[in-house]
Amino acid sequence: MNSQQDKLAQLRRRAEVLLKHAVDTQSTASQTMDEIIHELDVYHTEISIQLEDLQQSYEALEIAQERYASLFDFAPVGYIITNTEGLVISANQTASSLLGVERQLLEQSYFSQVIAMDFQDIYHVHRRLVLKTQQAQTCELQLQNTNGRLFYAQLNTDLPNVSSGSLRTAITDISMIKQAEDTLRRSLEHEKQVNLLRNRMLLVISHEFRTPLAVILSLIEILESYGERLSDEKKKQHYQTIRNFVWYLNDVVENARSIDISYDLLSLKFTRFDVISLIEQIVNDMQLLAKEGQFIELEVLRSTESSIITWNENLVRRIVMNLLSNAIHYSTQSIQCLVECEAHLIRVSVIDQGIGILEEDKAHIYEAFYRGANAMFIPGTGMGLFITQQAVQGCGGSIQFSSQVGQGSRFTVELPHQAIIHE
Ligand code: ADP
Repeated sequence: MNSQQDKLAQLRRRAEVLLKHAVDTQSTASQTMDEIIHELDVYHTEISIQLEDLQQSYEALEIAQERYASLFDFAPVGYIITNTEGLVISANQTASSLLGVERQLLEQSYFSQVIAMDFQDIYHVHRRLVLKTQQAQTCELQLQNTNGRLFYAQLNTDLPNVSSGSLRTAITDISMIKQAEDTLRRSLEHEKQVNLLRNRMLLVISHEFRTPLAVILSLIEILESYGERLSDEKKKQHYQTIRNFVWYLNDVVENARSIDISYDLLSLKFTRFDVISLIEQIVNDMQLLAKEGQFIELEVLRSTESSIITWNENLVRRIVMNLLSNAIHYSTQSIQCLVECEAHLIRVSVIDQGIGILEEDKAHIYEAFYRGANAMFIPGTGMGLFITQQAVQGCGGSIQFSSQVGQGSRFTVELPHQAIIHE
């Protein structure tokens, strides 16, 4: 281009000199002038062709630039360039949408402003590392967009131009991956916990079954061999013991089954039923297990509220049976079962006057397999309250107790009319 401009300038100079001497040397001048005009024509044509080429290249360049700009702007990841102070000097459209910040505004802000408080250190270490090693680095942190939404992002930063010190960072939204990782981790953890409980339960069952089965077997042998010689009273006693042990074993098995159920409440069937008639049934059944002179007194405070609830019936049965079974086991006197129907919930309280719970055990009784120090002489697995709490809380209810050693205990569960299961 420059050589052409030089050539044109040269021609112009020659033409000027010729024009100056045109008057004296008319004929030679007009001849040389023709040559120059011809040369100029040639150059003009050449320049026109080149101009056209240039125009085409310029248009192609514009198209390419537009294409690259849109590739840059709408790339699936956000791109920013920050200067040595961490100020964003350039950002693509994806970065602006990801962060919910206008591009112009983003391009005047410090990138650290969109980094969640707890992750500021990670970001600064990340930047320093890129500058120190002059190599690309990756880190994961939480960003906060202008709507206040926190999301996990992966930053890949490199140093495209060492002398300028500006950093180029690709921002990838990895919140979905993090969420999936989290769900996977939780379900693995959950599976591990259920397996652990199942294995321990198996050990407890095999241990707990031994004594009752031995007693049942020997009582049956006694009844078979010496039945005629035993008084009616004695026979009744033996049958009652057998019945109690069978109930107990059934209870152990039911609680073992409930481990899986209480961890998978979503798979249960929920129906509408009258909770009062269910509790009446349970109280009648449990009365058969009560000790001599021990009665379960059922009191219903119904007012005008409905006693129809939407729950899994077996779960409610398990909850109430566990509380009544404990009251029977850990006391000798009568038990009160109080049912109150309120606008949105049913409250069931089981009150006994038994051995009570030691202060040091109170914080642990809902733990799986935990047994109170004063309960060791009474058969049990330590699973009843664990299952009960899981079932009650898992369906949106609550459980609490008060107890005094030697005076008795009161366990209260509140069940919403409609079980609420959270995933
Ligand atoms: P288990 O009764 O098989 O031991 P639970 O989980 O039902 O298992 O109860 C855990 C512990 O809580 C019991 O071992 C006992 O120490 C205490 N406990 C529960 N209910 C009562 C109660 N009504 N009276 C006294 N102690 C109780």
